[in-house]
Amino acid sequence: MTLDTDILIIGGGISGLLTARELRLAGRDITIIDKSNAGQEASWAGGGILLPIYPWRQADAISDLVLASIQSYPNLSSELRDTTGIDPEWLPCGMLICKNPDYDLAIKWCKSRDIAYQSPPAALLNTINTRCDQPLWLPDIAQARNPRLLKSLKAYLLQKGVRFIENAEITGIEILNRCLQKVHTSKRSFIPNQTVVCAGAWSAELLNRWLPHASTTLQIQPVRGQMLLFDAQPDTLKHMILDGDHYLIPRRDGKILAGSTVEQAGFTKITTTEAREHLYSFAIGLMPDLKNYPVCEHWAGLRPGTPEGIPYIGFHPDVDNLSVNAGHFRNGLVMGPASARLLADLILQRTPTLNPTAYALNRN
Ligand SMILES: Cc1cc2nc3c(=O)[nH]c(=O)nc-3n(C[C@H](O)[C@H](O)[C@H](O)COP(=O)(O)OP(=O)(O)OC[C@H]3O[C@@H](n4cnc5c(N)ncnc54)[C@H](O)[C@@H]3O)c2cc1C
Repeated sequence: MTLDTDILIIGGGISGLLTARELRLAGRDITIIDKSNAGQEASWAGGGILLPIYPWRQADAISDLVLASIQSYPNLSSELRDTTGIDPEWLPCGMLICKNPDYDLAIKWCKSRDIAYQSPPAALLNTINTRCDQPLWLPDIAQARNPRLLKSLKAYLLQKGVRFIENAEITGIEILNRCLQKVHTSKRSFIPNQTVVCAGAWSAELLNRWLPHASTTLQIQPVRGQMLLFDAQPDTLKHMILDGDHYLIPRRDGKILAGSTVEQAGFTKITTTEAREHLYSFAIGLMPDLKNYPVCEHWAGLRPGTPEGIPYIGFHPDVDNLSVNAGHFRNGLVMGPASARLLADLILQRTPTLNPTAYALNRN
């Protein structure tokens, strides 16, 4: 069976769902296809911190998407909660950063990006067990609870009339004269006006497979990240803590996430004993009280890693009606809303709110 659809989005993670929202709100007809179930890959597995780790060490192209996105999260979250009854748990709980050897750079970034910062109150430092180096307290930094954000977004899009075709493997793509004409899947075929690839860590593989002679190859590689979840009581920890390369994130119901690993392991999405032990000893080293709580979950996800973590957002140089929103590496939630907005601006031929050059597919 073949379906005409205005816009076909390949991939139902945070990038695909937010892109669908932008385009649907502009009145377009949207179908999302996913090789498995939407919202179950990296976007589900992440920590939901709405700030990159040490953002002052990242490219301006990342900060630009981050700032625009964090401004939109409060309204996005309440719109999703009010429409669907599922609360994405946007929570401005603040973040304590224990070690800042590049403190001056951090302060300069906070000032230039209008991010509130303070010396941490003594009460925050007294409860942790680590050697602090010029610690910094960012009181307004928020988190979202990934599984709930995705569930809420999916329910919202369904209510708005977006079609989801899940467990659909792509079996063929027809391109003629720079125009993508048909996408065949194991479920059905589509004749789209526009096709958007939001396939996370799988995006480059997908494009290489179906466009083997393309003039541009996207540099997107899977980077595995593992997380532990402690079944702690509410108020055991009230804010996020970043210590070196690892962090703790307290959820509203008291559960505490300890993350994360950064591993080059191809598409093997398994958990390992080594990572479990490593994250466990980080967590109880920093907060010895966590010894009193069981680890209730341990999982892995595949981040869409890109050089410098800068995503690809824009049209394919060889196919006029094919575009990409993928490659957000460690920051797909915190860059999500602005990335989706930028791609929607390009597709809808609106003046983009951000300069798209840094995100172009053929930027290398
Ligand atoms: C452990 C961990 C911690 C993280 N912490 C944070 C954090 O605190 N803050 C933050 O902002 N980011 C964080 N991230 C990064 C963030 O999760 C990712 O950048 C983001 O989820 C990427 O979203 P995506 O939609 O591009 O990819 P995904 O969520 O992986 O979605 C891609 C979708 O495409 C589908 N797909 C793939 N191939 C095909 C195909 N051929 N056909 C159809 N569908 C296909 C997949 O099934 C999937 O549903 C973390 C990630 C991990 C793993």
